[in-house]
Amino acid sequence: MNQDQFPTYRSELEYVCQNCGARFPGDELHYSCNECNGVFLLEDTGFQRLRRQKGSQWRELFDSRKRSNLPGLQGIFRFYELIAPVLEPEDLLWLGEAQTPLIRAGQDLQKLVGQPLAFKNEGQNPSGSFKDRGMACAFSRLRSLIRTNHWDQILTICASTGDTSASAAMYAAYTGPQTLSVVLLPKGKVTPQQLAQPLGSGARVFELPGVFDDCMRVVEFLAENYRVALLNSKNSWRILGQESYAFEIAQEFDWDLGGKTILVPIGNAGNISAILSGFLKLKSLEIITELPRVIGVQTAHADPVYHYYDQEPGNRTYAPVQVKASVAQAAMIGNPVSFPRVKSLAKEYEKQAGTSSFQVVQADEQLIMDSTVLANRHGHIVCTQGGECLAGLIRARELGLLDPDELAVLAATAHSLKFQNFQNMYFEDNFPEEYRIKARQELVNRPQLIAGDGQSAANQELISRAAEAIVTSLGLTRTGG
Ligand SMILES: *Cc1c(COP(=O)(O)O)cnc(C)c1O
Ligand SMILES: [Zn+2]
Repeated sequence: MNQDQFPTYRSELEYVCQNCGARFPGDELHYSCNECNGVFLLEDTGFQRLRRQKGSQWRELFDSRKRSNLPGLQGIFRFYELIAPVLEPEDLLWLGEAQTPLIRAGQDLQKLVGQPLAFKNEGQNPSGSFKDRGMACAFSRLRSLIRTNHWDQILTICASTGDTSASAAMYAAYTGPQTLSVVLLPKGKVTPQQLAQPLGSGARVFELPGVFDDCMRVVEFLAENYRVALLNSKNSWRILGQESYAFEIAQEFDWDLGGKTILVPIGNAGNISAILSGFLKLKSLEIITELPRVIGVQTAHADPVYHYYDQEPGNRTYAPVQVKASVAQAAMIGNPVSFPRVKSLAKEYEKQAGTSSFQVVQADEQLIMDSTVLANRHGHIVCTQGGECLAGLIRARELGLLDPDELAVLAATAHSLKFQNFQNMYFEDNFPEEYRIKARQELVNRPQLIAGDGQSAANQELISRAAEAIVTSLGLTRTGG
């Protein structure tokens, strides 16, 4: 393969039902199986052809793309052949998503946690969350459909816990008049920043009393009965884009994932599906030789996947749960759409790497919020779901699931700035009762007012008094001179 050109490899993708195995051509938008209503994953029908190239050749190719400045294979499309080799160069979208930094925790935090750890800062994606990876792929696919079908306009629609809609609205706004974004949000269950984002991008925003799961049902009804493009993770193109997260981690460690554990929060379970699928792809092409351990994390206030895997293998039953208020609000989902994907992928993962290679742990709200604040006190920019990951690591250690020197890679799934309202509640120690969170005083931080209300700092006397107040507060001593 010529490393300086757009890849020549083209293939076909097929939707594969994760419930009954039925297959459907990938050249249209399908969201659920006609036979059994199951969810899909997309499979490259030519995948065997990719095996003709050795693992070492793939590694070289991806590494050369990483070094190159050529436009065209940006972001998730560095891994073009493994993501959507049906798209043409003019379809590919890149708004700065992916290639996010992996930040190793400093000595202090590692000592406190007792484990080597690093955060992958997904909050540094353009709309501030990992959802941009999947959306870049889904919108690139939409652009190819618009181009080949000569559509005038397509309505894109999603239900969201906040970040999906922020991302979808941004990509729709960029793509232009052919894509119109409609988003459905649970009223009062997304942060002010997350509500501002789709509004700022010009989306039509609808609020519904209730929780995410209710919004999802409305959106599914619309997608089944009208010509709209559904952008929830039921849309398998999003899962493909999110696989880039796994590819980047592998590349970051020079394709050696031995002794690594990947922790991810589980909400609708799209991300963990993509991560499992991504690592399995790399393994099957011998791009990596070892699968890393993958640990999903759920809050005790929305934990159906945890409960499923907490039962004896061979005798597990799945039941949706009624969610309770959670600071991991973006993962506050009682009936994850992608659960059947997790089930089939985790089965394959365990088959290849042993039963300890895939785990799901649960953390309570208190530990999630403490962990969020703790991480950021050590120089990170984690959202509450990133804090959930750290809480999950702490729990996993308590349960003895990790070797002492295993490096934990945590997903900081969104930017801390999107979730400041929870930090504020913590610092003011005024969480509503239902969260069951009390602030740990040593982690609390508040601003200190150094002049009385209504006073202006515009006079010299006040400035001296303010300076004195700060000096006293900090216990500073004068250096002389
Ligand atoms: C969507 C989201 C999650 C949950 O991911 P799923 O793919 O739904 O499991 C976690 N954190 C953040 C910040 C999110 O936006
Ligand atoms: Zn089916």
